[in-house]
Amino acid sequence: MSREPLLLVDKIVKTFGGFKALDGVSLQVAPGEILGLVGPNGSGKTTLINVISGLYHPDGGLVQYQGRTITNWPMHRRARHGINRTFQIPKPFKTLTVAENVELAHHFARPGAMTPREVLEFTGLADAADRLAQSLNSSQQKLLDLARALTTGPELVLVDELAAGLGPHELHQMADSLRHLADRAMALIVVEHHLGFVNQLTDRVIVMNAGKEIFEGSLALAAQDPIVSAVYLGN
Ligand code: ADP
Repeated sequence: MSREPLLLVDKIVKTFGGFKALDGVSLQVAPGEILGLVGPNGSGKTTLINVISGLYHPDGGLVQYQGRTITNWPMHRRARHGINRTFQIPKPFKTLTVAENVELAHHFARPGAMTPREVLEFTGLADAADRLAQSLNSSQQKLLDLARALTTGPELVLVDELAAGLGPHELHQMADSLRHLADRAMALIVVEHHLGFVNQLTDRVIVMNAGKEIFEGSLALAAQDPIVSAVYLGN
């Protein structure tokens, strides 16, 4: 990688009661880069996002961001430094409107962050601005979660399963929008089941299986890799 990495994850181990959910995972992300994180259910993708976002602290290994070791920083401190995320199951403030949810997140914004109005346009939620969050369908709730993350002005956004429930047209639009974030120097790690979506987003994926990285490279090459096919694409 020619550019200085924004994020460096080195030999991360995370155990739950003796079970190794992550078994020595390493990766790097450059500023403004999109990395796809794929692999079968239970392979450790969300756990890795939880370790990078600070929800979990690992039992071994190192997380470095902008050259600083942040392995044991709490989540809010990482957020202040520009690491933000979405959740597989979003938890908006249900009795607030979409706009109010975004405005609340914007209170924690870093300089130069997209305004609530901009992120509502960006995520296609502008028409739903005055609706209560609880009235949104599940894919709109994911978009709201993304809007809330974006309005804090992150440099690294961890996106967990955004495509689920989106139709082909929405998927295409979402992939387009996410690619534009790179123009604003935002890097993304995208955990995704939907390989077509990943393919529209990025040419670099990491494939995980059983807590380990089994492949790094393009999705096209991953599809030809016998180990990847055996554990993932073939099942
Ligand atoms: P993926 O996101 O790839 O589907 P996860 O990271 O959610 O996989 O899970 C990896 C493994 O770690 C699974 O076997 C899961 O059951 C286990 N795991 C994840 N979080 C916890 C937890 N908080 N407590 C116990 N086991 C967990």
